[in-house]
Amino acid sequence: MAATGLDPAALVDWLAPNEIDMTGEPETFVRLREGRRLMVLRHEREGCPFLVEDVCSVHPHRPLACATFPYDLDLGLGGEPVVIGLAGASCVPRGPPDVMRVADCLNRMRAELADYARRVTEWNRRQRRRLRLARLPEDTDRLFAFLARARSLSAIPRPAGAAVDFAGSIASDRR
Ligand code: SF4
Repeated sequence: MAATGLDPAALVDWLAPNEIDMTGEPETFVRLREGRRLMVLRHEREGCPFLVEDVCSVHPHRPLACATFPYDLDLGLGGEPVVIGLAGASCVPRGPPDVMRVADCLNRMRAELADYARRVTEWNRRQRRRLRLARLPEDTDRLFAFLARARSLSAIPRPAGAAVDFAGSIASDRR
C-alpha cells in the first residue's frame, strides 16, 4: 500500500475483540492505548475504498490477498498447504489458473503475515513493559512509526520449496 502514497492510518480500521472472532489467532491483536485492536482494511460504502466504478484503482499494487483471489489456501495441522480452492467467488476465472503466479503470491503472503505477526509480538511486548512501569500503552501514530522502522518486507526471504507444494495443491484441486 506504500505505493499508493496514502497515509496508512487513513487506510485502516481498528476492531475490538468483541467485534470479530479471532479465536485461533489471538496474537494478531495489537495492544494500543484504547485496548486490544485488530487492524483491518477500512471499508467505504460497505466496500473497498479502492474500488472505483467497479474497477480496482490500485491494481498493480493491490494486496496479495486480492492478487490471489479467487483462490484460497487451507493449511494442514502442521502448517503444510493441503488444498487451494476457489474462495466462494461468484465469478470463476476462465481457463487454467496461472499456477506459478498464484503460488508465488501465496508464498509472499504467508511470509508477510509471519513477518507482521513477529512485529506485533514485539510491539505488544514493548507495551507490556510500559504497563509494568505504570505508563500508558502507545497510540496508533507510534505503532505506524514502529512498523515503518521495522525491516522492509521486500527483504523477507521466500520460503524455500513451498512454491512447489502450493503449485501441486492447486493442480490437484483443479483435476
Ligand atoms: S482488488 Fe483488492 S484493493 Fe482492489 S478494489 Fe478489489 S478489494 Fe480493493
